[in-house]
Amino acid sequence: AIDFKFIRDNVDLVAKNIEERKSGGDAANVVALYDQFVKMKTEVDDLRAARNANAAQMKGKLDPERRQELVAEGKRLKDDSARLEEELANLVDELQKEGQRIPNLTHPEVPRGGEEVSVVRKEAGKQREFTFPVKDHVELGEGLDLFDFDTAAEVSGQKFYYLKNAAVLLEMGLINWAIQKLYAKGFTPLSTPDLVRSGVVEKCGFQPRAENTQIYTVQDSDLCLAGTAEIPVGGLFMDKIIPEAELPIKTVAFSHCFRTEAGAAGRENRGLYRVHQFSKVEMFVVATPEQSDALHEELISLEEDMYESLGLHFKTLDMPSEDLGAPAYRKYDVEAWMPGLDKYGEISSASNCTDYQARRLNIRYRPAVNEDSAQAGKKGKGATKQPPLEFVHTLNATACAVPRMIICILENFQQEDGSVVVPEVLRPFMGGIDVLRPKE
Ligand code: AMP
Repeated sequence: AIDFKFIRDNVDLVAKNIEERKSGGDAANVVALYDQFVKMKTEVDDLRAARNANAAQMKGKLDPERRQELVAEGKRLKDDSARLEEELANLVDELQKEGQRIPNLTHPEVPRGGEEVSVVRKEAGKQREFTFPVKDHVELGEGLDLFDFDTAAEVSGQKFYYLKNAAVLLEMGLINWAIQKLYAKGFTPLSTPDLVRSGVVEKCGFQPRAENTQIYTVQDSDLCLAGTAEIPVGGLFMDKIIPEAELPIKTVAFSHCFRTEAGAAGRENRGLYRVHQFSKVEMFVVATPEQSDALHEELISLEEDMYESLGLHFKTLDMPSEDLGAPAYRKYDVEAWMPGLDKYGEISSASNCTDYQARRLNIRYRPAVNEDSAQAGKKGKGATKQPPLEFVHTLNATACAVPRMIICILENFQQEDGSVVVPEVLRPFMGGIDVLRPKE
């Protein structure tokens, strides 16, 4: 349920927001379509009332001529109704399609503009200084026998990979470490379907059929390969009504992510940086509107703690309005130093989507009846009035996107002989291995 009334009543604000985000969507057009919809809906309702009145008149005893007149009138009303209802259905489709293109509103503190205005929220650690020539993760992986890109290219295509030997332990170790860390913080662990219906993908704010989409679709079916666990986990709450007392619901999901990476090119294609399939641990939270800002801060702090405990050097950025995508109200990205690739690379993203996904997925909560309104209810007619249902807010945040974490670990903790020191916090999840050593 897109809030068309809000768009109509705040058309200038919505248009300015679209401009600031440089996103798709045309506020004035949505308002024009909505006004047309309201008018046509009234006409349809009036016609329905007229048909009912016509049918009621025919119940009594009538002279044949009058009956004839009413039958003709009834037929005319029926035809008009059918025509108008079809027009209305088309208009609703158009209104929904245009409405879907309107992005979420933007948090007032989000820097307005492009990449150059993003604000550093936190910086941890320092770029390590090396006393020997640095290798990138592909070269290190050759020495350590961790990957097979060539065979993967033959079996699956470019941007696929096999992990081998300690890289597999590293992948499993990272996943277990992230899940257990967040389980201990009260997050409910989930493992989700890799294939999801295109309708659910759309309701989460992704466009499976758009040009340049990142999403694989499965031929002869309505299924897509999930690009992130955010989609199946969002879907888990679809059409649910949650009592306020149960919020916030914090989940942590393990999933595979699939991305077409259409248009991605250049040095970033080397190795594991930008691949078609990867494992990821993702946090997804359902909250009340009052809770969501504070939870966003909590999620990014949890991420920062985790990356600090691995010993990474990173920056957290308050992302600018033009980089938010459609669903996010505010987004923090973490960029970590990757010495072999000689750049900061994005390792995670934490978004507060406010009610954007909840409206589309129809996730609502039942506000608690507070003492005052309960008392007021008692004083009144004796019955306590239930407050109306409200849409929840949803948040998502990467805990651990495995390939980029493997890049960070290999490139930052390499030693001159090509070995790699495993961060201490991961060792218990890797059978105690403390150093990855090159094959003899
Ligand atoms: P996103 O869901 O796009 O915010 O991505 C979450 C995280 O997944 C990013 O911060 C990256 O660490 C990682 N990631 C995204 N796309 C890819 C890709 N094609 N290959 C490897 N890692 C990726």
